Amino acid sequence: IVRYRKISKSYGDLQVLKEIDLDIYPGEKVAVIGPSGSGKTTLARLLMTLEEPTAGTIEVDGELLWHKRVKGRLTRADEKHLHRVRGSIGMVFQHFNLFPHMTILRNVTEAPIRVLGLSKEEAVERAKIMLDKVGLLDKLDKYPGQLSGGQKQRVAIARALVMRPKVMLFDEPTSALDPELVGEVLTVIKEIAAEGDMAMLLITHEMEFARDVADRILFTDGGKIVEEGSPKQIFENPKSPRLQMFLNRFR
Ligand code: ATP
Repeated sequence: IVRYRKISKSYGDLQVLKEIDLDIYPGEKVAVIGPSGSGKTTLARLLMTLEEPTAGTIEVDGELLWHKRVKGRLTRADEKHLHRVRGSIGMVFQHFNLFPHMTILRNVTEAPIRVLGLSKEEAVERAKIMLDKVGLLDKLDKYPGQLSGGQKQRVAIARALVMRPKVMLFDEPTSALDPELVGEVLTVIKEIAAEGDMAMLLITHEMEFARDVADRILFTDGGKIVEEGSPKQIFENPKSPRLQMFLNRFR
């Protein structure tokens, strides 16, 4: 469902990603682990079309996100095309980015109404199902400011799910949370993952979580995927010295 081909990204002289190839299959859960600065977030930002690759292509569901070349440079696909492709990707960031002046219900119904063209009733119905899923049906009329960080992040998850994306992208969804709030968010993500049909790309510093939820784990370092495998291979039988060293920090 997602295909990166020879993706490179540089900021000035700093090459952050080096010819990355990555495939995510429908329904597959892929976790990305690796040291700070290894390019994990950049990998995600390219998929969200927030950054432009220096070279390479990314496809989502058979459609290119980045393909035009103008004077040798890659540019984004045209806006209309992007709008459609982006609709199939749900995103949850480190910071929740909820609309502070809207109720929880409106935060979740806004995109289905505006982007998918659902009626208000249809959107509310869908939103309630998703808010129930993340355990927040009783907070419909509250504002983001009245919720804890963990609750806000659960709203952000419901807001992404309500669009019924084919791929969900989580970029360190718990790293801005107080430690006692991390568990509730990870539990919700695990439950969604267990439902099965949606592909997920999870960037995380939570090793146990990665192990529980992922079908496959990628270890990035120095802008490359240094090692990949099942959770069992990665955690019990890491091959590269860099991965061994990285994992030792969590023991
Ligand atoms: P972390 O786990 O800390 O989030 P990461 O693996 O996600 O790290 P990236 O955020 O992708 O790493 O960053 C990779 C490198 O690119 C870092 O050295 C970072 O400082 C640099 N970088 C990221 N964004 C920019 C930018 N807009 N301009 C210049 N350098 C950047």
